[in-house]
Amino acid sequence: VKSGGRGAACRFEPAIRARAEERRTLETELGGALARGELRLAFQPVVDAHDEQIVGFEALLRWGHPELGNVTPDRFIPVAEETGLIVPIGHWVIEEACRWAARWPANVTVAVNLSPAQIDDPRLVAVVAEALAANGVAPERLELEITERLFLDEKPSTTARLAELGALGVRFALDDFGTGYSALGYLQKAAFSRIKIDRSFVSRAGPGSDASAIIEAIVRMAGSLHMTTTAEGTETRSEFETCRDLGCSQVQGYLFGKPMPPEEATALVVPSLRV
Ligand code: C2E
Ligand code: CA
Ligand code: CA
Ligand code: CA
Repeated sequence: VKSGGRGAACRFEPAIRARAEERRTLETELGGALARGELRLAFQPVVDAHDEQIVGFEALLRWGHPELGNVTPDRFIPVAEETGLIVPIGHWVIEEACRWAARWPANVTVAVNLSPAQIDDPRLVAVVAEALAANGVAPERLELEITERLFLDEKPSTTARLAELGALGVRFALDDFGTGYSALGYLQKAAFSRIKIDRSFVSRAGPGSDASAIIEAIVRMAGSLHMTTTAEGTETRSEFETCRDLGCSQVQGYLFGKPMPPEEATALVVPSLRV
């Protein structure tokens, strides 16, 4: 072995090993996280662009581990997807989201993110139907957010599953629009009612910017297809005003509220709970 080669290996090995080790730890710990009650939902307000009132919330997973601390979704969702744990975890998310939605006014919606592996699971339709019925939540209040990733290695069952879900009366949103593969044909794969415009465009939106031109084009296309748009990750008043003026019907972002504990979200829409 040449000494140069070995030196390189020594330099990189610890980092690779540390990453593999972290992954193993997350895998092991995530397996019991649900049963130990370490998973929580955070709800982020979704706001009408015109009157700036809350029209719904997006459910976002949070994992607080006694030793690892708060593990961010970007770290544990991929592990959950690869291990299949996203299926039972996803069932819990749907049920928990519906339990909270039941306490909100009937015009407040709840959005839940779905990974491709969840849509492969034949039990999904029954889980959604049951969660809605058990909590008395009208199907049109539940919005399922899916990404273009779903259509990449599309299984024959995918379109059928989406149709079955759609038949329940739930809505679909195409998440992170513009970041992935964005073959526009994806828009015909399900009865999408909403396109969520990715933060990467919203954060660069300003008068005359390329990002604004792209947002405008997405809004116009969505309108022609009878879909509405949500501008994601709106952090500043000027980003918000640009997106609103370009025709986005809803906005979501730190400007209007970070993801928050369910009790706090509920207090925002149930006046009797306001302090
Ligand atoms: P996403 O679905 O695109 O969710 C939006 C992400 O943007 C959230 O990150 C949210 O906290 C963050 N965000 C919202 N407003 C702002 C803003 O103004 N500025 C900035 N910088 N960020 C903002 P989070 O909660 O870390 O979630 C990351 C991703 O993890 C989500 O992206 C989603 O893909 C996935 N995820 C979260 N919860 C679930 C879940 O229950 N199931 C599945 N399958 N995936 C989930
Ligand atoms: Ca989402
Ligand atoms: Ca998104
Ligand atoms: Ca910006």
